[in-house]
Amino acid sequence: MIEPSISAIEGSFVFIPKRLSWFAIGLRPDLSPDVMRLNMNQIKNSDCSILWHAHSTWSIRIGKIHLLIDPFLDDNPAAKTKASSLTPSHILISHGHFDHIADAASIANRSKATVFANYEIATWLAKHHSVQNTIGMNHGGTFRSDQDGLKLSVQLVPAIHSSSLTDGSYGGTAGGWVIDWQSDKSSGRIYYAGDTALFSDMQWVARTHVDLFIVPIGDLFTMGVDDSIEATRFIQPSFVMPTHYGTWPPIAQDAQAWAKQIEAKTDAKAVVPEIDKPWSLPVSK
Ligand SMILES: [Zn+2]
Repeated sequence: MIEPSISAIEGSFVFIPKRLSWFAIGLRPDLSPDVMRLNMNQIKNSDCSILWHAHSTWSIRIGKIHLLIDPFLDDNPAAKTKASSLTPSHILISHGHFDHIADAASIANRSKATVFANYEIATWLAKHHSVQNTIGMNHGGTFRSDQDGLKLSVQLVPAIHSSSLTDGSYGGTAGGWVIDWQSDKSSGRIYYAGDTALFSDMQWVARTHVDLFIVPIGDLFTMGVDDSIEATRFIQPSFVMPTHYGTWPPIAQDAQAWAKQIEAKTDAKAVVPEIDKPWSLPVSK
């Protein structure tokens, strides 16, 4: 498994793009200096960083863009970051449950971030919480932008889960997010599965190679460890990170043991996040 340390990536490994080929420097004397230099440069040029705030709240930064996924911070017993300290440019909501939306309105109203959610949640945020910048979507829909040299698209994809809002309102249908970007420094695809059971249609996301798959492992409310391994086999990502675990005792998991299983049973590299510690995603240009 790979700890989320940028220095470890820069100092210890060579990333060979196209497929998943990591070699510890020194163990591969047959690698030509040109190959090593080329790929080390690609790692340093990666402008995508991933940060887990605990539970299922993530900050993904690509260039100047900060995508905040499912903000649940102030009442999150595992989180260290307060909602008032984050100023994202975009907020992505997977569904309406409190542990995914609790701080969305306060952050959006202060930061003026654009909130992406299903139509029902976007409408509810605007009507009941005066959120100004909302983009209501539905499964299969993609929002695209091209700004400051960064092409970004976010697609709302299905998840098997329920969705109701914190006041009991109908929350539409739960989803996950597929984030694609292309900049002068990098391009890549991230699949955040959201809260979901394992389902076979997940694998359609992998028609285009997925660089990072963020998959729930907590069980009880989402798929657990065994199904997350099967999901990783479906998606065949370069890297996989666990989410939606460890917040409360009912969803406690041993993430290190999960990582060992991932690496034994799939071709993906497991990255176990530490709360609030950024990890630079190596991506091929
Ligand atoms: Zn949840």
